[in-house]
Amino acid sequence: MIIPTLGCPSQCKYCWSSEETSPIMAIETITEIVSWLNNFSEERVTFTFHGGEPLLAGPNFYREALAILSAGLPNTRTEFAIQTNLWLMTPELAEIFAAYNVPIGSSIDGPQELNDLQRGDGYFQKNMRGYEIARSHGLVVRYICTFTNHSYQKRDEIVQFFLKNGFVLKLHPALPSLRGENPKEWALDPLDYGDLLIYLLDQSLLYFNEIEIMNINDLVRGVFTRRGTVCTFADCMGSTFAIGPDGSIYPCYRFVGMEQYVMGTVYDRPTREMLLQSPAGKLMAAYRDFVDIACSNCPHIRYCRGGCPYNAIAPTDGEIKGVDPHCIAYKKIFDEITDRLNTEMLQSPPMGMPGFGMPSQPQKPGVMALMHKVVMQ
Ligand code: SF4
Ligand code: SF4
Repeated sequence: MIIPTLGCPSQCKYCWSSEETSPIMAIETITEIVSWLNNFSEERVTFTFHGGEPLLAGPNFYREALAILSAGLPNTRTEFAIQTNLWLMTPELAEIFAAYNVPIGSSIDGPQELNDLQRGDGYFQKNMRGYEIARSHGLVVRYICTFTNHSYQKRDEIVQFFLKNGFVLKLHPALPSLRGENPKEWALDPLDYGDLLIYLLDQSLLYFNEIEIMNINDLVRGVFTRRGTVCTFADCMGSTFAIGPDGSIYPCYRFVGMEQYVMGTVYDRPTREMLLQSPAGKLMAAYRDFVDIACSNCPHIRYCRGGCPYNAIAPTDGEIKGVDPHCIAYKKIFDEITDRLNTEMLQSPPMGMPGFGMPSQPQKPGVMALMHKVVMQ
C-alpha cells in the first residue's frame, strides 16, 4: 500500500487514521519504491493508494506515479487500486485512473441522512458527485460500509440502500479509536458484529442474485478452501507492507504514522529479512506464534489465524495480551457457516447420485449454493 498522505478533507466521526498536518509524498519517493522493490521481490504486486485521502496528492502525482510504477518493475506483474472518499475526483483524475484500469474502493455508510450523521454533513453529496465522474469514465467503484453501534440498529435500511443502488457491499466494523477521549463512542461491539455477520449471511441468501456482500463471500470461501483469502484471516506479515508519505515502511496501512511500527525506509532498500528483523517485524512474528498457541483448540484456526494483528496489538500499545477482540464475532459466523453446511450436506443426495452437493429440496439457496457461486466467480 502506498499512503501519499494522512491528510483528509472529511471529518468522519469514528476515523482513526487522518492527520491534518500530514505532508504529501514526493514523487521521488515513488522512484525509491521502485528501486527498493526491484531487489526485493519478483512476486505480483498490487499497489493500493490509501490514506488519509489519497486524491489530495493531485493529478500530477498520479500521472507520474502510475507511469513510474508500471515501467519500473518489468519482471513483476503490477496491479493498482485506490481507496478514496471520491470528493476530489475530477475528469482529469478519472482519465488517468482509467488508463491504468485502477478499480476504486470508496466509503459510504448508507442513505444520506445516516451516512452524513457518521461521516459529516455534505459527505454523501460530494461522494456521489465523484462517483458519477468515476462511473462516466468506466471506472469500477465498490463501497466499504462502516457499521457503528448506531448504524448497526439500521441494518435493514442500509442493506436496502445497497440493493436499490446495485452497490457491492464490504463491511467494516467501526473500531475503538486510538485517539480521542471516548474510544468506544462509535465502536461496534464484537457480539453485535457477530450477529451482524449472520444477518448479512441471511441477506446474501435472501437476495442471492441481487447483492454481493464481499465479507460473506470471503468467509464462505475461507471455510471451503480451508485458508483465509483476505488479510484479516491470513498471516498478513510479510505479504503486505505500507509505505508512508516519507517513505517509511510499515507492516500495514493501519500502522502508518505510528513511529514504533516503522520497519525501515525505502530509501535504505531493506531486504525482506531486514524488515522481519526490525522490532515491528519481530512483534508481528510474535503475534503469529502467539496465535498458534492461543487458538490451537479452535476448529477455525486454519482460515482465521487469530484475525487482525492491528486490532489485537495497537490498542495495547504493542503488547500481545490476546487475539483480535473480534474473535467472538469470527467464531460466531464460522460456527454458523459450518453448522449450516453440515446440515445441508446431510440433506443432499449421497455422493455419486444426481444432485450431489445440492440440497434435495432447493427452494431457497443455502450456504452450499453460495459457496458454489463464490467458487465459480
Ligand atoms: S494488520 Fe490487519 S488490516 Fe493490516 S494487513 Fe494485517 S490483517 Fe490486514
Ligand atoms: S475464531 Fe478466535 S479462537 Fe478461533 S482462530 Fe479466530 S481468533 Fe482464534
